[in-house]
Amino acid sequence: MALAYDQLKSDQPLCAGTRKAGQQCNGTLYRCGECGARGCKQNQGTCTEQAFDVLDTCRKCGAHAMRAAG
Ligand SMILES: [Zn+2]
Ligand SMILES: [Zn+2]
Repeated sequence: MALAYDQLKSDQPLCAGTRKAGQQCNGTLYRCGECGARGCKQNQGTCTEQAFDVLDTCRKCGAHAMRAAG
């Protein structure tokens, strides 16, 4: 019996933003415990849906309250 395609995909939510080179990010998503901003963690300006910089600082509110998005 074949598995449904959805069952093969990870439960981990992935970033749907676009990288500089134009491909989908697919980075791990995080959530800000302060303002609720949601996105991936990247070097500044790498992804359109980036929410945190490499020092875990929220780009929206500046807090260091990064949580797993799931
Ligand atoms: Zn925030
Ligand atoms: Zn991303």
